[in-house]
Amino acid sequence: MKNVEKSRHKYTESQAYLAGGVASSLRSAMKPTPLFASKGSGPRIWDVDGNVYIDYLLGYGPLILGHAHEATTESVYAAMKRGITYGLQHEGEIELARTLTEILPCADKVALSGSGTEAVMLALRLARAYTGKRKIVRFHGHYHGWSDTIFTSFPSSDMRQSDTTALVSPVDQTILPGTSGQSEIALKDIILLPWNDSAALETALREHHDDIAAVISEPVMCNSGCVLPKPGYLEQMRNLTNELSIVMILDEVITGFRLGLSGAHGKFGLKPDLVTIGKALGGGIAVSAVAGSQDIMALIENGTVSHLGTLNGNGVATAAALATIAELSKDEGAVYAKMIKNADLLVEGIRRLLAKHSLPGIVNQIGPVFHMMFTQEPKVEDFAAFTQRDAAKYSEFSSKMLEEGVLVRSNGLWYLSAVHGEQEIEETLAAVDRALAHL
Ligand code: PMP
Repeated sequence: MKNVEKSRHKYTESQAYLAGGVASSLRSAMKPTPLFASKGSGPRIWDVDGNVYIDYLLGYGPLILGHAHEATTESVYAAMKRGITYGLQHEGEIELARTLTEILPCADKVALSGSGTEAVMLALRLARAYTGKRKIVRFHGHYHGWSDTIFTSFPSSDMRQSDTTALVSPVDQTILPGTSGQSEIALKDIILLPWNDSAALETALREHHDDIAAVISEPVMCNSGCVLPKPGYLEQMRNLTNELSIVMILDEVITGFRLGLSGAHGKFGLKPDLVTIGKALGGGIAVSAVAGSQDIMALIENGTVSHLGTLNGNGVATAAALATIAELSKDEGAVYAKMIKNADLLVEGIRRLLAKHSLPGIVNQIGPVFHMMFTQEPKVEDFAAFTQRDAAKYSEFSSKMLEEGVLVRSNGLWYLSAVHGEQEIEETLAAVDRALAHL
């Protein structure tokens, strides 16, 4: 057993002062105890007990260049020395906004915020103001942040704060709030649909289009099984929303800058009205953006829609984003090519090891993000199939991986960074082999 006594001790100490002992509720789910980090470097992270782990949690996604990448830290350090935030406009905002409009196919204009949650809040507000309608269509198993207007029940087991927070049933369509204390009025405007179900989408949109302001969807269901859209599904969403005057929002907080510079919508050749991006955009610094068509973004320009935030577009955020994008843009796609090649190696290896140990399981992958699950299902192509996985067994596996010196999220979602190399993949696969042998 790895010694994590100092982490245990610090967790107790933290609970005396910090509500829940963690700064974001789902971090408390970590077994055997929420770990306290002392440093991170490249693809590795150290805890306060001196244990080192190959990191596939990657800060829940932002660390696409790994920990403390020189390009980001130097750029942020230089920006800080020029003044952290001004409350005035500065060159970095123009540069970042221009860069995003050049890179993201759907972006005529962008707006900057601090988190994915805020970006989604703004996108929904824009859609309602633009259409003069109220209802929002969202999907089972997707996650769009924790604001009152969109937060329904948690999509996966490690996102539940307690066992009393029931998962929404994929069958009865009941909409449950994500947490106590959430405004029920806000959720009255939500229509919750099964994802990847063309007939359900068409029926709901045609029936309620007079009331529907927006459809919001992850382009790949990364929060519940890394499920790809069925061929034609997102195109159908695009066609129907165009026809019925509904705003199509793709929530690219995970996929943005992860599947490639132009995100999922670039990769799939789609033009949604709005996209939200965050996480990888800042390489670990808080920054997010809404990007979209001139018609809709004009509502911010003409003052119809308020977009506020003390730290929006601060110099540290823009410096981090610009440095991250510059690094990811190097050598014409070579960074992504390497990242995807390594992810393929890892995923193929895991699939091979699942077979070797006769453990029925599935790894759903798109580029450098994948979801590993133990399941008897032949395929996981929707949320209903995802809920059939053996979450407890995976959680046990993730604990064994920790013992082996590999940090993975206990719900099954893995992120790979641009600095994970063949060495890390090899070590990780050896660890997977040993962990599976002990299940
Ligand atoms: N949208 C998606 C698709 C996400 O995965 C997340 C975070 N996991 C969010 C929005 C919310 O982002 P944040 O945690 O930065 O508020």
